[in-house]
Amino acid sequence: MTPLIAKLVWWAGIVGWYVIRYPHQRRSRKTATASRRERLRENVLLSISFAGLFVVPAIYVTTGEPRVADHPFHPVLAWLGTLVFALSLLLFYRTHHDLGRFWSVTLEIRETHQLVTTGVYRHVRHPMYAAFFLWSVAQALLLPNWIAGLAGLVGFGTLFGLRVGREERMMEATFGDAYRAYAARTWRVIPGVF
Ligand code: SAH
Repeated sequence: MTPLIAKLVWWAGIVGWYVIRYPHQRRSRKTATASRRERLRENVLLSISFAGLFVVPAIYVTTGEPRVADHPFHPVLAWLGTLVFALSLLLFYRTHHDLGRFWSVTLEIRETHQLVTTGVYRHVRHPMYAAFFLWSVAQALLLPNWIAGLAGLVGFGTLFGLRVGREERMMEATFGDAYRAYAARTWRVIPGVF
């Protein structure tokens, strides 16, 4: 593994992510929405996450900047990053499969929305966010630059921190006791830990 190959792995991860998401994004536009929460706030949070997971690392991968934040490259870490990115995409694929047409990029409740508690949602309430955290960790392992490497964790961490409580309150307001019971028997992101 060389720094160039690590950068190519990062690009491959981005392409893989887009290929998985694209059909769901198309269908999402056609799926009727019953209610939508704080659109502006949501779009600001999504932009912060997008900057950290894509814009900042893409600048680094294409221009090498900001060079002042470079640190030594370790092939073992890059291999680990490749594995973690692969796991992230696998989980990302599964979450889209299990959530189906109830997925939305911002906080929304669909018409005829149902609570999904099966598949990867059986033990964890936010497996898609877990997949994004894995992506952030993979980015940090693949790119030997403090700013580009850690931007994903900061960007996605901001979205997660300021969204997850609201999302759970929205789900509780919609599904009531069914969601409370589901929340009581599941973990938020990492089974057995958090
Ligand atoms: N937080 C989840 C889903 C992210 S997509 C995860 O990380 O996997 C966000 C949308 O998914 C929200 O607008 C909400 O309407 C929907 N959603 C979240 N959890 C759900 C569930 N268990 N069943 C059905 N829809 C859910």
